[in-house]
Amino acid sequence: MADTDVIVIGAGLSGLVAATELADAGKRVIVLDQEPRQNLGGQAFWSLGGLFIVDSPEQRRLGVKDSRDLAWQDWLGTAGFDRDEDNWPKRWAAAYVDFAAGEKRAWLRAMGHRFFPVVGWAERGGGNATGHGNSVPRFHLTWGTGPGVVEPFERRALEAERRGLIEFRFRHRVDALTRTAGAVDGVAGAVLEASDAPRGAPTSRVEIGAFALRAGAVIVASGGIGGNHDLVRRNWPARLGTPPQKMVAGVPAHVDGRMIGITEAAGGRLINRDRMWHYVEGLQNFAPIWTNHGIRILPGPSSLWLDATGARLPVPLYPGYDTLGTLAHLRGTGHDYSWFVLTQSVIRKEFALSGSEQNPDITNRDWKLTARRGFGKAAPGPVEAFKTRGADFVVRDNVEALAAGMNALTGDALIDAVALRGEIEARDREIDNPFSKDSQVMGIRAARRYWGDKLIRVARPHRLLDPTQGPLIAVRLNILTRKTLGGFETDLDARVFGQNGAIIPGLYAVGEAAGFGGGGMHGYRSLEGTFLGGCLFSGRQAGRAVARGV
Ligand SMILES: Cc1cc2nc3c(=O)[nH]c(=O)nc-3n(C[C@H](O)[C@H](O)[C@H](O)COP(=O)(O)OP(=O)(O)OC[C@H]3O[C@@H](n4cnc5c(N)ncnc54)[C@H](O)[C@@H]3O)c2cc1C
Repeated sequence: MADTDVIVIGAGLSGLVAATELADAGKRVIVLDQEPRQNLGGQAFWSLGGLFIVDSPEQRRLGVKDSRDLAWQDWLGTAGFDRDEDNWPKRWAAAYVDFAAGEKRAWLRAMGHRFFPVVGWAERGGGNATGHGNSVPRFHLTWGTGPGVVEPFERRALEAERRGLIEFRFRHRVDALTRTAGAVDGVAGAVLEASDAPRGAPTSRVEIGAFALRAGAVIVASGGIGGNHDLVRRNWPARLGTPPQKMVAGVPAHVDGRMIGITEAAGGRLINRDRMWHYVEGLQNFAPIWTNHGIRILPGPSSLWLDATGARLPVPLYPGYDTLGTLAHLRGTGHDYSWFVLTQSVIRKEFALSGSEQNPDITNRDWKLTARRGFGKAAPGPVEAFKTRGADFVVRDNVEALAAGMNALTGDALIDAVALRGEIEARDREIDNPFSKDSQVMGIRAARRYWGDKLIRVARPHRLLDPTQGPLIAVRLNILTRKTLGGFETDLDARVFGQNGAIIPGLYAVGEAAGFGGGGMHGYRSLEGTFLGGCLFSGRQAGRAVARGV
């Protein structure tokens, strides 16, 4: 006897989307989550709310010409699909790009979602036309950041809860999927003690009971593995060098990857487990919400990027160009950190911090506060706070004092002041040179041809040693774990394949647990803004398919 029509494991974005689509179709859903109610929305609440949209009115207003074909060219160059297992991921990618170029914006808009008018240019690539990266700005920031993405689905879910269609059971941790005659038809797990820990903080795992539930279908929406650094290291691919010893956590502890192992044990086929998306511009949060909490800088293109020994990174590894290319290079240096060297003028305009709580102006939809990003000498409040209170910042008036500060910070004494001065002066000569052979300098000039970058993202080109632009700043950058690109192999209805290649009846996977669709629709790399979008799309596909009785 079934307890409900459908069980959804995970009350993050992908789980909420699937559950609300099911409720709209009149199905009864139980949503289980190991965390307390105050955590509703999972990682998406903390996110910056950046979404990959193609050929939008926002782009067109800024003179950006985008198209489905250009986006697909960029996607293929970025994904680098090259495996037999990429069959379903590639189909998901094509369907997702269609969605991003089609009804995604209108679907969200009809639910009250809105975008910030300036479109960002993430992952610029820097290679050739068929290689990695976005050919045009496509990163659409949600007005309201992550909470603004969650809001419509939370509202719909709470309405469905009132109508008795969705039932949330928090502090219910799933420990097993149950199968009858080959079909997944239920879950079993532990009830955890109540928790009033603030949203995002780690919660206890003390068990106060057990539960078992049965349903016609089970949707796994449990997120990835980025909060479990042992698991990240175990799956770390050789192409990215050796796993770092020291990393900061870009996700809360509930992104523990446990449910991935449980679903695999029930027969689900996990593919592309070696594909992951971690950042190289992580800061240690001076006011952590979760353990080892790291914050990612979304950098503009002007900072000078040096490895731990002070050597400048090779072409085209500039800030905001190629996340995993930079990670692979840095792993080859034998050190877990690198450096940005910049000026006050650069930090003011070019440092954005990823996370809803780091962008109170946009999160709280405060136009007045947001407008201040364009003016004054100070960076936005949260960035200035990191500059003065963060453990990774060195602020000095001259190169020699900066080098001494960098060495004192790490205790490694790897930075040679004379070499550092030489590197900066060489770069500054190219800034003074209207021709220039330095492709980072050329990239800065090209970026400023885009009105959005010129307005709020890219500093006016200047010499780093120009005292009027100072003080000089060095930022130690840590590796920050975030997204899991591989996941459960699924068809376009989000049905999970078994290890024998046949669909497992009753079992579905969505969001990060499904590699955002198919078991890894990103392939090796991402164009950014595609993770929340992948949760929206896969959650919607699953909800609608299950409702149709697929
Ligand atoms: C700071 C930050 C910034 C980001 N910015 C962006 C951005 O701008 N653009 C973008 O596209 N993406 C961004 N992302 C990524 C994006 O937010 C996530 O990939 C996405 O929200 C994942 O959603 P999900 O539903 O798959 O999983 P989650 O949000 O991880 O939700 C999974 C839920 O399942 C529960 N769960 C897990 N295991 C069990 C179990 N065994 N039993 C019961 N419950 C379980 C968890 O407690 C959790 O609530 C960002 C992420 C972070 C953290």
